[in-house]
Amino acid sequence: MSKILEEIINANTAYAGAFDKGELAMPPARRFAILTCMDARLDPARFAGLAEGDAHVIRNAGGRASDDAIRSLVISYKLLGTREWFVIHHTNCGMETFSDETIRKLLRHSLATATLDKDGWRDTGKGPGSVEGDYIDWLTIQEPREAVIEDVQRIRLHPLVPRDIPVYGFIYDVSSGRLMEVPEATELGKAA
Ligand SMILES: [Zn+2]
Repeated sequence: MSKILEEIINANTAYAGAFDKGELAMPPARRFAILTCMDARLDPARFAGLAEGDAHVIRNAGGRASDDAIRSLVISYKLLGTREWFVIHHTNCGMETFSDETIRKLLRHSLATATLDKDGWRDTGKGPGSVEGDYIDWLTIQEPREAVIEDVQRIRLHPLVPRDIPVYGFIYDVSSGRLMEVPEATELGKAA
């Protein structure tokens, strides 16, 4: 068995052994949702003080307001009653290290894991790669604050998002564990 597979199964056996939250309701008890990055250094349950059943946490690369993130947010309010949303990007995000063109080129070359050095991303894998990457909008990040503002604004202006849900914009600092508000984003995300 893979070492990771074994570790996960053992960790879950211990978790389930002490589990006492089997009676939680499906709708988030604290009625809010967080959209954030998949980065392994971010633990929203801990940095935002969540327990099981408290809130929705939607994650993708960058914490971007993609169509699929919006799909989840709409379900979150429309069927499960959340009333406030947080968009939380973070410092040192991997999405700042490449562009659409970069990843498309790497994928065209091979499907192996690329390496990052002082000259940027490099693909040393054996081909063939695929051109399928050309058809994906990778939603990379050029300027972190701008990206938070853009995502809050996209959610705010989306026709399926009601005006009375406030959308707050934040950047989580991976070096201090602190959440820093992006006031321009929160301003744009104000409820009406
Ligand atoms: Zn990230």
